[in-house]
Amino acid sequence: MAKYIFVTGGVTSSLGKGIIAASLAKLLQARGLKVTIQKFDPYINVDPGTLNPYEHGECYVTEDGAETDLDLGHYERFLSNYTSQANNVTTGRIYQTVINKERAGDFLGKTVQVVPHITDEIKRRMLLLGQDDQFDIIITELGGTVGDIESLPFIEAVRQLQWELPDEDLVVVHLTLIPYLKAAKELKTKPTQHSVKMLSETGVHPDILVCRTEEPLNNDIKRKIALFCNVKTEAVIEAMDAATIYEVPLLMLREKLDLICLRKMNITGYAEPNLDKWKGFLDKLKYPKSKVTVGLIGKYIELQDAYKSILESFVHAGAMNEVKVEVVNVHSEFITAENVSEKLSGLDGLLVAPGFGLRGIEGKIIAVQYAREKGLPFFGICLGMQMAVIEFARNILGMKDAHSVEMDANTNYPVIDIMEEQKKITMMGGTMRLGSYPCEITEGSLAHKIYGKYSITERHRHRYEFNNQYLDQFQQNGMVASGINPETGLVEIVEIPSHPFFIGVQYHPELKSSVENPAPLFVSFIGAAKKYNEQLHTSVKKAAQVS
Ligand code: GLN
Repeated sequence: MAKYIFVTGGVTSSLGKGIIAASLAKLLQARGLKVTIQKFDPYINVDPGTLNPYEHGECYVTEDGAETDLDLGHYERFLSNYTSQANNVTTGRIYQTVINKERAGDFLGKTVQVVPHITDEIKRRMLLLGQDDQFDIIITELGGTVGDIESLPFIEAVRQLQWELPDEDLVVVHLTLIPYLKAAKELKTKPTQHSVKMLSETGVHPDILVCRTEEPLNNDIKRKIALFCNVKTEAVIEAMDAATIYEVPLLMLREKLDLICLRKMNITGYAEPNLDKWKGFLDKLKYPKSKVTVGLIGKYIELQDAYKSILESFVHAGAMNEVKVEVVNVHSEFITAENVSEKLSGLDGLLVAPGFGLRGIEGKIIAVQYAREKGLPFFGICLGMQMAVIEFARNILGMKDAHSVEMDANTNYPVIDIMEEQKKITMMGGTMRLGSYPCEITEGSLAHKIYGKYSITERHRHRYEFNNQYLDQFQQNGMVASGINPETGLVEIVEIPSHPFFIGVQYHPELKSSVENPAPLFVSFIGAAKKYNEQLHTSVKKAAQVS
């Protein structure tokens, strides 16, 4: 039987529950245990798929096509294990299940209530992944902050489980903040005391407190927190701000977070953690040999979480290439033909981001043209690939108003068209082409060089596709389809062989990049940017020698 660790949060949001959960999971995994992480979100949307990225950051898509919270991205990047629909549950999904059951008459005439019916459904889902022998430990991150009205049923479910399960089968980790008051030159424990008090009032008592802090917690402070919050002193864990999230597992190892959990769960016979690969990655990340600058062209750049997986993939790919990747965010809405060379100057590569809708589209097309004409490494993802196709149609094939029918339903050249199966869809949630699909790669293509194989699978999230009616024209004029879905013939990869590095993909390679398995496309793109940068320096040096 699996054991369960719950991670709650107090004092304020954005303390990084996801990173703490992922770090703890990493340490337990490194000790040989089979671990997964799930996230329970208190909002009423059935999933975050319909949420604007400004609201909730990126929507993370799993292998099985679930649209989920971006924290699942952290779980996969840390663990190199895939999650699924079962790993992300929202209040909306819980209620949907309960209401469907009520409509089916399954409650046999009973009044359906938050307790026990909603909490029963929450508990069923909390325990679900532990039902077969797949995992030893299930870590559940509870979204929101203790004290929020909407998280109450989740906390109540944890209370009931604490009562129902043997003591050693359940651990509650509470993440809080110990603010440092500059004026008083003091760390303050009161917000943590209040937050633990509030949690205890609901009947849930934390076993471990992980305390986010800018300053180290000395033993006196730890003892004080332990005394007032009724936990063991060694269970007060210092979580100092780290230079990178990938350092957090090592900080937690030093504080023995994993050992304290294992002790509470009465688990023995575990190995010393094997973190060799992880440490190797961290070393490369911390001590890069040079730097490359890449432009991220998007329209949600004000909010870093909107492109979380892309940014993390750059980190993984940078370490593989032993370079620091500096990302310059360029707002596509403000790129014009007049200012493009100024806005994109100094870049070693250009990534045009995924997205939806008309805003910022022309700027993306202008940016693609710049990269194509200047020989600047180019990488287009989903909408970014579609923009590369439109740019090529307009400027090389002479199709002046070529467009995607998403942006212009009446274009004379619908080079990006709606997928056949999407035409009848009216409901927005969970209806895109989602999740993992196979792709066959052409021998000798750039894609083949990058992946080193002929068959791959990658994850998707889109409604529109390359219009195969135009494929011959594109191929005859220099843009080729080097990756095709073998079942449907959908174009998944386009490239320009005469360009040093120009590739667009209909799928999202950033969703499968992890610390221990960086996405090949990102690794190669950063490699191309590094080469571009080196060549630039060599030619500048040569020019200086000549003059
Ligand atoms: N809006 C485009 C489509 O639906 C691209 C989607 C994306 O970039 N994820 O096809």
